[in-house]
Amino acid sequence: MHDVLIIGAGPAGLSAARWCDELGLDTLVLEQNEQVGGQLLSVHNPIENYLGARAANGRELRDRFVEQTKDCDFDLWTNVEIAGVDLKAKRIRLRSGEELQSIAIVIATGLRRRKLGIPGEAEFVGRGMIESSGDRAAFAGIDACVIGGGDAAAEDALLLAEACPTVTLVHRGKKLRARREFTEALHTNHCITVFPESVVRRIIGSDRVEAVEIERAGAIKPFQMAVQGVIVRVGFEPNTELFREQLEMDERAYVIISSLQETSVGNVFAIGDVANPLSPTISSAVGAGATAARVIASRLNAVQNRSR
Ligand SMILES: Cc1cc2nc3c(=O)[nH]c(=O)nc-3n(C[C@H](O)[C@H](O)[C@H](O)COP(=O)(O)OP(=O)(O)OC[C@H]3O[C@@H](n4cnc5c(N)ncnc54)[C@H](O)[C@@H]3O)c2cc1C
Repeated sequence: MHDVLIIGAGPAGLSAARWCDELGLDTLVLEQNEQVGGQLLSVHNPIENYLGARAANGRELRDRFVEQTKDCDFDLWTNVEIAGVDLKAKRIRLRSGEELQSIAIVIATGLRRRKLGIPGEAEFVGRGMIESSGDRAAFAGIDACVIGGGDAAAEDALLLAEACPTVTLVHRGKKLRARREFTEALHTNHCITVFPESVVRRIIGSDRVEAVEIERAGAIKPFQMAVQGVIVRVGFEPNTELFREQLEMDERAYVIISSLQETSVGNVFAIGDVANPLSPTISSAVGAGATAARVIASRLNAVQNRSR
């Protein structure tokens, strides 16, 4: 039996754990990945906007978070697979068979990159489907296709163009949605071609990615373009499958919360990107963790004082 079970060890979950520890709550954090840090692990550019800690990239900031929680007493289990959650009963069942019980649950499961769901996308993971543009050297010499029209797609096209002879950016809209500095850089980079009003229908190959099939608005039929690497950057979606039917969510499956970060189920809180904050940032996630921890601590203290 714990006071608090926190699901997810990104900035929001780690902040909540740090605060729970400071407030004397018995806390266990459950993280599905081997490493903590969440989206920070996929930030390859400098982080300049988290006050008090500039970092060369997300991993460096993550390391500082870990360093600052080293002396804390909360437990952290990584590589954990949650099989089921009963939010009302505050019970979590792990795939390993273990049952965990708490007084409060904090959902800090963040976001994941949205998939296209087209043929070839899943088959070629690790064989030409690029997860991250961080390791530029790995793409030297390959022709790449970036799918998406926002900041992430534009940024990745620019990063890949540092290593790849050609990069084709394929996006659905008439105009890119990326910020101006990115779009200007895209249009002046001689390695990059932009296909607007275009959709990738499938990824083709035998052992590895060899081509993409593209449908362009106004064209009579789709055509194939030879590429050896594909990266999909078409937005994010919340990790909320575990909680479906148990609490209120909006139409895009983000958790709805009160100003105390509490969900529609009492003593179940949602913090960080999973609760669709107005500003999905590290600062907001860290702040939300503090709020949830303080609300939980004040409720538990009130109960303990009453029972004295
Ligand atoms: C490329 C990129 C650049 C960015 N740049 C900036 C920036 O410069 N400044 C800024 O402020 N923000 C930036 N952000 C946004 C910032 O990283 C996020 O707002 C922040 O990470 C949100 O934290 P979070 O803890 O809510 O969620 P996440 O970071 O998504 O962490 C969620 C954690 O929950 C875990 N989890 C999910 N489901 C389960 C489950 N079922 N069981 C157990 N664990 C689970 C995940 O594995 C993950 O570790 C950037 C994001 C990206 C992708």
